[in-house]
Amino acid sequence: MSDIDISSRANKIYDILAKEFPSAKTALNFRNPLELLIATILSAQCTDKRVNEVTKDLFSRYHKAEDFANADLNELEEAIRPTGFFHNKANSIKRCCQQIIERHSGEIPDRMEDLVRLKGIGRKTANVIIGNAFGRPGIVVDTHVKRLSARLGLSKNRDPVKIEFDLMKLLPEGRWTFFSHLLINHGRKTCQARRPKCPSCCISNLCPSADL
Ligand code: SF4
Repeated sequence: MSDIDISSRANKIYDILAKEFPSAKTALNFRNPLELLIATILSAQCTDKRVNEVTKDLFSRYHKAEDFANADLNELEEAIRPTGFFHNKANSIKRCCQQIIERHSGEIPDRMEDLVRLKGIGRKTANVIIGNAFGRPGIVVDTHVKRLSARLGLSKNRDPVKIEFDLMKLLPEGRWTFFSHLLINHGRKTCQARRPKCPSCCISNLCPSADL
């Protein structure tokens, strides 16, 4: 299948899923780029629902990068403990916020190259922030996007960064951020990891892995 065929299929998949999930967006609650950055760090190996429960209280106590940068590490660990891996996450949050103050005067940078230089921030987290807090194009490759990209034949790669670049070539920039949300929603509802519901899938006619 040529790249043009794959691109046309990817855009058709987008159109159908956009009708299925017209208001797809990140499930993490946030009011500003800093809150989304913290919530995204906490979401590693944790459900968005659990993160939202934790951040409800956390964001009422810590408001600015300075608050996290100067936080007592033990107190911060306790506050985020239910999200798991709280030792590493607290360390990343504190160091990351110190770097934001040192390098960016306390403001979250909006460029990929600046974001990925911060402690605990990889391309996935950076794209979450760029796409959802700053409204600029960014494809997030999480476990759902990775699985669906393979099943839908949109990428032969396993490495998330390579998958991200494959998807970027298939869709216009204006579709990047929303496409991640669409795949995540479809992955949660229908194309689940263990038992994909192919017979009731709305994009089965565009899927080379359909088991009907
Ligand atoms: S047809 Fe099956 S494998 Fe393909 S996207 Fe739908 S649920 Fe997933």
